[in-house]
Amino acid sequence: MEKSTNFIEDIINNDLECGKHSEIITRFPPEPNGYLHIGHAKSLCINFGMKEKYNGKCNLRYDDTNPAKEDVEYVDSIKKDIEWLGFKWDAELYASDYFDRMYECAVLLIKKGLAFVCDMTSEEIRENRGTLTTPGKNSPYRDRSIEENLDLFSRMKAGEFADGSKVLRAKIDMASPNINMRDPIIYRILRESHHRTGDKWCIYPMYDFAHPLEDAFEGITHSICTLEFEDHRPLYDWVKINCGFDPGPRQIEFARLNMNRTIMSKRYLKKLVDEGFVDGWSDPRMPTLSGMRERGYPPEAIRDFCERVGVAKANSEVNTAMLEFCVRENLNANADRAMVVKDPIKMIIEGADNETYLVENNPNAEEKEYHNVTFSNELFIERDDFMIDPPPKYKRLVVGGTVRLRNSYIVEYKSHKCDSNGLVESVTVQIIPDSKSGGTNAGMKVKGVIQWVNAKDYLPCVLHEYDYLLLDGDGDFNDRLNPDSHIIYDKAVGESSLKNAKPYDRFQFMRIGYYSAVSNYGKNGKYEFNRIVSLKDSFNFNNK
Ligand code: ATP
Ligand code: MG
Repeated sequence: MEKSTNFIEDIINNDLECGKHSEIITRFPPEPNGYLHIGHAKSLCINFGMKEKYNGKCNLRYDDTNPAKEDVEYVDSIKKDIEWLGFKWDAELYASDYFDRMYECAVLLIKKGLAFVCDMTSEEIRENRGTLTTPGKNSPYRDRSIEENLDLFSRMKAGEFADGSKVLRAKIDMASPNINMRDPIIYRILRESHHRTGDKWCIYPMYDFAHPLEDAFEGITHSICTLEFEDHRPLYDWVKINCGFDPGPRQIEFARLNMNRTIMSKRYLKKLVDEGFVDGWSDPRMPTLSGMRERGYPPEAIRDFCERVGVAKANSEVNTAMLEFCVRENLNANADRAMVVKDPIKMIIEGADNETYLVENNPNAEEKEYHNVTFSNELFIERDDFMIDPPPKYKRLVVGGTVRLRNSYIVEYKSHKCDSNGLVESVTVQIIPDSKSGGTNAGMKVKGVIQWVNAKDYLPCVLHEYDYLLLDGDGDFNDRLNPDSHIIYDKAVGESSLKNAKPYDRFQFMRIGYYSAVSNYGKNGKYEFNRIVSLKDSFNFNNK
């Protein structure tokens, strides 16, 4: 079935049909002031999606025009995350490489009588800007001569004036109903070292001036951005046209991705990092792409999620359970199954021999692969898979009852032992003969099937279980931080084959959840896993 097009594709198709463009060029323009998050994945999927669909190009352009908050650590992390998602950019570019050309454009505007140096303070500028219902007032410096403006602007660049003492403003219309058009500031004085240009510049262009120029310099055909820039589009067009780029790139806005219980602002995520609430930007609870990688999310599932959410023109909030659904669907198809016991007690099996079973890695895989699981007369089972005093409808082992051991026999209760606190230490059972799959008693009715680990051949491991960083609700983030977002199970045991796992290998630990080997798996003899998602869905795309 041919997929229907979204509104961005409709615009592009139109531009191709009428011959406005023969090649589509988009860009992904992150500001290197933090790590990429799931919202950025959405923008990446759209921009690189257009490149792929139209066999065009997509640039990775660092929007590094604001030196105060930017850093090389962020530049590097951004590249790594985009590659991890599986996208390839055509050119790696930096807005700061265009500072000279931007300066020339500003000079051009001055020469055209379309920009002036203003000596008002930022408060005065704000006070004179007017409101939605009242027009602004012209700056007393608005009618400076072109010569005076050229002189002052070059002296701003030369460092003759203090930070904040002067700005360059576009001369548009102080009575415009669009406040962005009321003589916006396009350059400011700022003595701040830049991560690439060092101390070469003490004036920096403002976003609304820099961005259309960056797009125009690169020959971007469609500049896709989020909805809050809709009101800036007239200024975007004004800058590009008056700087000599006509028609130049076209700005198209789409609704940013918002998700419940998820923070989607670099500023706030940075705060969580700086205040130590999480263990860095790649903490598995973070909605950053590096956090999701550490957690074990398959990149394909993230792309699938962005695809299914679609492109919209109106802001809305997406249920985070939808992302988890996509992750789970991917893992159900691709993750190998393994047996792990989170909170072990011993199971002693009278008269059992050592055995080895060949077990399928993943029943859903097209190509069957197998691994060995060993069995003996001493196993570990989950503490809550045996109960002395079970609640109604309990389906696992009880006093006098039977249960099936996955991939193995049905066993029948014989006795149990408790420690001095009355907690169960071990349960002794006997095998029902011929009850393995294919045996004459295999069809015997049992209520439950439980997983187990051979206590004579196992891997001690640590399981990290994560919950949302935010509690439900819609108050201030600070009041909604979830104190129980990370739980550690440090007495877990796994089947011994898990020793061969590699960092980031993903598993379904049967009856427990989907887990991923941590990035330093096996180092210093430590075998740890992050829970990616639980087994059960609270959301389903197929019957929503
Ligand atoms: P933040 O508010 O988190 O700092 P930002 O928009 O300032 O985000 P940028 O680095 O400027 O971050 O973003 C790079 C690109 O990613 C921009 O084109 C931006 O519109 C897009 N983007 C950022 N957040 C989202 C989001 N939640 N949904 C969709 N696109 C987004
Ligand atoms: Mg930004």
